Amino acid sequence: MSNDKNNINSNSYRPDWHPENAGDEFAIRVVKGKESTHDGLSLTNTTLRKTTPITKSAKLTKEAYIKGVLNNDRTTLARTITLIESNSPTYEQLSQEVLQALLPYSGNSLRIGITGVPGAGKSTLIETLGLFLIEKGYKVAVLAVDPSSSVTKGSILGDKTRMEKLSREADCFIRPSPSSGTLGGVTRKSRETMLVCEAAGYDVILIETVGVGQSEITVRSMVDFFLLVLIAGAGDELQGIKKGVIEIADAIAVNKADGDNMHKAKIAATDYSNALHYLAPATEGWKTDAHTCSAVTGKGIPELWNVIKKFEQIVKDSNFFERRRKQQTLQWVFSMIEEELKEKFYNNSTVKANLHKYTTLINKEEILATTASKELLQIYQENSN
Ligand code: GDP
Repeated sequence: MSNDKNNINSNSYRPDWHPENAGDEFAIRVVKGKESTHDGLSLTNTTLRKTTPITKSAKLTKEAYIKGVLNNDRTTLARTITLIESNSPTYEQLSQEVLQALLPYSGNSLRIGITGVPGAGKSTLIETLGLFLIEKGYKVAVLAVDPSSSVTKGSILGDKTRMEKLSREADCFIRPSPSSGTLGGVTRKSRETMLVCEAAGYDVILIETVGVGQSEITVRSMVDFFLLVLIAGAGDELQGIKKGVIEIADAIAVNKADGDNMHKAKIAATDYSNALHYLAPATEGWKTDAHTCSAVTGKGIPELWNVIKKFEQIVKDSNFFERRRKQQTLQWVFSMIEEELKEKFYNNSTVKANLHKYTTLINKEEILATTASKELLQIYQENSN
């Protein structure tokens, strides 16, 4: 079972070690950017926890938010998500109260995470699968977890034209990744958005993430089923894909199995299936396998859905479904605590004032790493209220 704890890798120490300066190995990373919400509000991130402005016109009463979501009024749903995405202390209580009221209505969906390298065909697959599910009578919400989206101006889901047909469907709700600035922040908001969408009656939640960095581990920790989208490549089929991602997948979809690529895709799927024999399954009682599909022609999509439904049946029967969800909620609580503590630590003015001194001492090998960390924590304890 994976977790979304933001581990600090001791190998990744750098003299300018602070979340704001961290690279991909560090989950708390500050990203700068600008994004528009559904309400047309401008969200800007420049600090670790910058407040998001909510205009007066966007603010509704608590009852209006709750009623609107439960009635699946899409405008209110979008506004509720904007409220949740705001870090403004002014709206925090209202946001929590709305969520609290909606909580009893949430949890009734199948949560599916979808990852894969850019270009694998994730959004095309989401569109095809989403349309297929709507045809079957499901209500589909599509969310994204992409902590880099505010830098790249929405590397996933930012461009709505990518799911043009799906976004026109009345039974579909698409929400791009919140531009929060930290993976922890994005995760919190995405989880809460997922709960709100469930309360609005969406019964399949598709959560897209990019197949790079830590975000897929995070998404794994919030979904029931995790799908890895791959394409057939030349040479070693496992090249370029981190083994860790394969280990957390419940299914691999070798996409673009169409035209001249069909044969190659089938061979790739067989190779992945063989490789999967040697890996422990991501989900207790389930055997991860590789399948082929074409998001463009739709071939293999119904079969893929059958795999997901079979999975759901097995894990619900064994009670693992419930157990995993409880475990995920618990993990979420702990990761929020860690995030908060980490943020408080690095934003503590006395810690900040001492970091440089300790960095120099460590670089000169004049202090042991354990001593340095103990002393810095001591400084924090003595100077936090
Ligand atoms: P993403 O970056 O993983 O979301 O990938 P996209 O869905 O944007 O797809 C990348 C490119 O691959 C686009 O040009 C798609 O039209 C194409 N594509 C996606 N799925 C398929 C497929 O099943 N078959 C073929 N031939 N092309 C596909």
